[in-house]
Amino acid sequence: MKPRDRLRIAMQKSGRLTEPALDLLNRCGLTFRQSRDKLFCFGEGEPVDLLLVRDDDIPGLIAQGVCDLGIVGRNVLSEFRGTAGESNGNAALTEWRKLGFGRCRLSIAVPQEMDYNAPQDLHGRRIATSYPGLLGEWLRTQGVDATVITLAGSVEIAPKLGTADAICDLVQSGGTLVANQLRETDVLLQSEAVLAGPEALPSDERGDMIELLLKRLDGVIQVRE
Ligand code: ATP
Ligand code: ZN
Repeated sequence: MKPRDRLRIAMQKSGRLTEPALDLLNRCGLTFRQSRDKLFCFGEGEPVDLLLVRDDDIPGLIAQGVCDLGIVGRNVLSEFRGTAGESNGNAALTEWRKLGFGRCRLSIAVPQEMDYNAPQDLHGRRIATSYPGLLGEWLRTQGVDATVITLAGSVEIAPKLGTADAICDLVQSGGTLVANQLRETDVLLQSEAVLAGPEALPSDERGDMIELLLKRLDGVIQVRE
């Protein structure tokens, strides 16, 4: 791949992380030419551009070197690291900074009437999730043999539809669970938005730019806390 002399950051095009991520970058002194309907946002003052994509695509874009950094939920990054992650010669990814927004947790939830006391009660059950890697790993550590059903969305209605006995999904307030007569039983992962990047910084000017950005981020995050 041709070396780039501008830094490229991937972030969610449209969703929960979009506004807070842009706000954070603005506070770091980065401004972008407004073309939010586009995939690419050109940085005005500094040599830093944005790629606006689905959050699920962010780890892959960094691992392939298409982007240098990404703002993404730990849930998405961890799922990627556990599955597609380091295969195919992709770079190992790491969390450079925790960003303090997009907080949620990945949890097991079961129908309110289900008799559930411990993870072992999931033995032989079907669990619907969009995070098969993280769920599979948790089930292994718990020594539970359950069937993982991978769904792209609307995981919370699977028990009502009869396609699963329990779910493993993101929870923020718990309102969605209550609305679907589910109760949260185990937390697999505490998540928030993170700045993700390769473990090794590029050895050219982009590495210097990343270090400068991290310094500014630390200032902004400290002021917030
Ligand atoms: P995309 O079109 O980019 O794939 P999406 O539907 O996967 O969008 P959002 O629902 O906008 O994504 O969530 C983005 C991220 O926000 C999640 O991956 C997670 O890190 C965080 N998040 C915080 N609270 C919640 C919640 N209650 N439900 C889902 N995600 C949440
Ligand atoms: Zn997504």
